[in-house]
Amino acid sequence: MVVVGAGFGGATCAKYLRTWGPNIDVTLIEPNDKFVSCPISNWVLAGMKSMDDITHSYDKLSRHGIKMVKDYVTGVDTAKKVVTTKGGASIAYDRLVLAPGVEVLTDSVKGYKEASAAGKVVHAWKAGPETAMLRKQLEEMPDGGVFVMSVPTAPYRCPPGPYERACLVANYFKKAKPKSKIILLDGNPDVASKKGLFMDAWNNLYPGMIEYRPNNAPAAVDGGRMVVTTEFDDVKADVMNVVPKQRAGEVCGLAGVRNDSTGTWCTVNLATFESTTVPNVHVLGDSVLSNLPKSGHMANNHAKVCAAAIVELVAGRQPNPIPVVANTCYSATSDTTAGHVANVFRFEAGKGYVTQPDGGRGRQGLRDPA
Ligand SMILES: Cc1cc2nc3c(=O)[nH]c(=O)nc-3n(C[C@H](O)[C@H](O)[C@H](O)COP(=O)(O)OP(=O)(O)OC[C@H]3O[C@@H](n4cnc5c(N)ncnc54)[C@H](O)[C@@H]3O)c2cc1C
Repeated sequence: MVVVGAGFGGATCAKYLRTWGPNIDVTLIEPNDKFVSCPISNWVLAGMKSMDDITHSYDKLSRHGIKMVKDYVTGVDTAKKVVTTKGGASIAYDRLVLAPGVEVLTDSVKGYKEASAAGKVVHAWKAGPETAMLRKQLEEMPDGGVFVMSVPTAPYRCPPGPYERACLVANYFKKAKPKSKIILLDGNPDVASKKGLFMDAWNNLYPGMIEYRPNNAPAAVDGGRMVVTTEFDDVKADVMNVVPKQRAGEVCGLAGVRNDSTGTWCTVNLATFESTTVPNVHVLGDSVLSNLPKSGHMANNHAKVCAAAIVELVAGRQPNPIPVVANTCYSATSDTTAGHVANVFRFEAGKGYVTQPDGGRGRQGLRDPA
């Protein structure tokens, strides 16, 4: 078995393939030495946590007998069942699990690549060096400066993430540079997640600080003039955090499994996570198109359902036809408040994942995130 990507989905799948199928050989391919978590990365931007707090070692995976290969997959031959890597390796598989997260489409915003190369714009939608860079830019911004950030059109990784980011940056500004302002350019017609929670926080915790503009997808950025251009106007910024739209990770394109109607996301049998078009290739996490949210918690649940299904298939048995997954999502609105939703879903053939009554209403509330 070969698993590509050691994020929330891939690392979990590799672990549970070995736990539930101790005779299965598992090779996990990942280019990075350490995992940097997107969850809590907005807290780093607000100065509430450090990069060390969100950086985790892969060391514990080896105790499960997983063979880790530090490399990047650059080719997939689904006929020969072989992946090839940047480092020149060819690795054969019986079944392939792809968990590469998202590819951020920087080409979709004119001037983005040039401004990014000049260090004038970051998305920080993959936690790592860009997270640290954005925190530094916010710290260096003068009091009274303007932070312009954007929300990509749905579907995208972590629906509440941009709105949480606006809250936490506002929390930082309120304490450190109270004359500053946030302009939130949303490519969507309305707040795409937890609207009540976020509007309440913007109005009551940060009155006058966050200007929300729906239907305002950035079309271009200019790193020289520090301007984000939308369909309507040029927005001048001191710090630019433009998050372009996204699609399933690059390796999904290489394997031919970006098979939705627009060639953007991957459709799978949601009881096994096997591609609906390419046999023996499973896709997990953010790359999958479904009614489930693109979250780390959900990628972890996809991974467990997929690992259980593969163990059954390898043993010649039928996978569980009615798997259950859950999603819990906390969004911090300040350094002392957060809101959460929690849902349980059961797979029903012909319907997909159906919200279950007990956990299905979703629960929202405020609590101390500590
Ligand atoms: C600001 C922010 C806040 C968030 N907060 C939360 C939260 O509070 N709770 C929550 O549940 N989710 C949250 N999320 C969402 C969560 O981060 C993602 O949903 C989750 O990371 C998806 O897991 P994944 O396994 O699909 O992808 P990832 O975790 O991104 O893992 C993909 C891995 O694949 C590797 N990879 C990619 N291509 C290749 C290749 N060709 N070869 C080898 N390896 C490859 C990458 O290096 C990476 O390690 C947040 C996201 C953001 C941006």
